[in-house]
Amino acid sequence: MQLTQGLHRAVQTSPDAVATVCGDRRRTFREHADRVARLAAALHDLGVREGDRVAILSLNSDRYAEYLLAVPWAGAVVNPVNIRWSPAEIVYSLRDSGTTVLLVDDAFAPLVPTLTDQVESLVAVVHCGDGVLPGGLLSYEELLAAHEPVDDARRSGDDLAGIFYTGGTTGFPKGVMLSHANLVTSAMGAMASGELVRRGSVLLHAAPMFHLADLAAWTSQVLQGGTHVTVPFFEPTAVLDAIERHGVTDMLLVPTMIQILVDHPAVGDHDLSSLQRLLYGGSVISTGVLERTLATLPGVRLTQAYGMTELSPVATLLLPDEHEGRRLSSGGRAALHSEVRILDADDRPVPTGTVGEICVRGGHVMQGYWNKPEETRAALRGGWMHTGDGGYVDEDGFVYVVDRIKDMIVTGGENVYSAEVESALSKHPSVAQVAVIGLPDERYGEKVHAYVVAAPGTAPDPDELQTHARGLIAGYKVPRSFTLVDALPMSGAGKILKRELRAQAAQEVTA
Ligand code: ATP
Ligand code: MG
Repeated sequence: MQLTQGLHRAVQTSPDAVATVCGDRRRTFREHADRVARLAAALHDLGVREGDRVAILSLNSDRYAEYLLAVPWAGAVVNPVNIRWSPAEIVYSLRDSGTTVLLVDDAFAPLVPTLTDQVESLVAVVHCGDGVLPGGLLSYEELLAAHEPVDDARRSGDDLAGIFYTGGTTGFPKGVMLSHANLVTSAMGAMASGELVRRGSVLLHAAPMFHLADLAAWTSQVLQGGTHVTVPFFEPTAVLDAIERHGVTDMLLVPTMIQILVDHPAVGDHDLSSLQRLLYGGSVISTGVLERTLATLPGVRLTQAYGMTELSPVATLLLPDEHEGRRLSSGGRAALHSEVRILDADDRPVPTGTVGEICVRGGHVMQGYWNKPEETRAALRGGWMHTGDGGYVDEDGFVYVVDRIKDMIVTGGENVYSAEVESALSKHPSVAQVAVIGLPDERYGEKVHAYVVAAPGTAPDPDELQTHARGLIAGYKVPRSFTLVDALPMSGAGKILKRELRAQAAQEVTA
């Protein structure tokens, strides 16, 4: 089964239902499919053939939903580019994937000369905006009008749907090859929980659509034929306005976005009664933020997903009624389609409750890393996807993600997992955001250090934070030192870049 099948079904069953909403613009499934088929024709005209890579560089919009379907409709492979990357990183991903055609909106049009200059494989650029591009390119609407719809290429489920670059949180991004079947398996397995989009859902795309977290929610919504609402990028008041105005029922956010949203003063001024489900995941969420979210959005059913690009992306789900007590720090249980095992450094299963590497098996595991056979073999050894995440499973099958293995801190021979320390600190009222890393220490090997962003109107006091933490976690886990910062370095997907904090700290030491 391939992704476009959801669109065919929606056209058959509810052609006049609303498929996409963007500001004042609304389109039905019939119109959506017609536009997708015209864009696919334009891609064919530009020489796109089966298996070719077509990249998207665009803010969120209803058109993004068209690009994501037109590329497979044309038989091609999609490469959604991280819009927060530097030009050099964008060039890298286009060259690495051998992209031949680039779809670009007005916001990124100024980058086009650099990209056409530096990416040899690029043969054409499709202007997907309304403004005027140099070189006499048609506007997006002119382009669609100039092409007659073509038939869907209808490739098989085993064919490559896309190359999705990882977040680049731990190092250089890797291109993850996912088939249609990979994406559909993850979406359907997650939907089987009954806590994702369902019939009649109105899904808001507030997280960036290039990122697989949002793209997975988009996939579920395509498969069940529901409405997509888009805002160009995450901005709390725009998100709150869109929920109120369009009767949004479902939303996906990453933890940093949830924190910004629930702490935003305008939350109380909006009618959010349409909102039924909030799916979140993509990085560790501290229990402090989770408790504030439960209190701020009392009627909303919260589901956490743990996963990664390589898993299309869902591995486990923490369902709404599992959001209590100790389980607030769990990523939930394996989703229907996903098998989870905790392995030690020699790939042997560890006993229940023991920390090891979280490994996953199932029809959602990637085909491999693009152009990286060795990394692929290492990640998939023994038939299990090795996530690089440390965690354990409890007696009831709940998975606890304690840290990325690369981020684990060893101080005086004791393991400290940053997630636990961050959760403890996040419960203090003066802490808005926190990141914990290990700094080199002569005596203990590493010492626990915290970067703290103050909650508005507060001045966090290190002694007080230490006392607070000591009440919640063991003494050796309590940060020895703190740095107060205005903001934490973030990746394009809204994840805290600990490698940058470490580099910064190393510079300060040598300076
Ligand atoms: P890179 O692989 O390039 O360093 P990345 O790992 O951030 O980047 P993604 O595939 O977007 O790229 O993110 C997957 C990772 O995000 C997981 O391996 C895990 O560390 C983290 N993660 C995702 N969901 C959760 C969750 N619910 N709880 C804790 N961590 C999570
Ligand atoms: Mg990763």
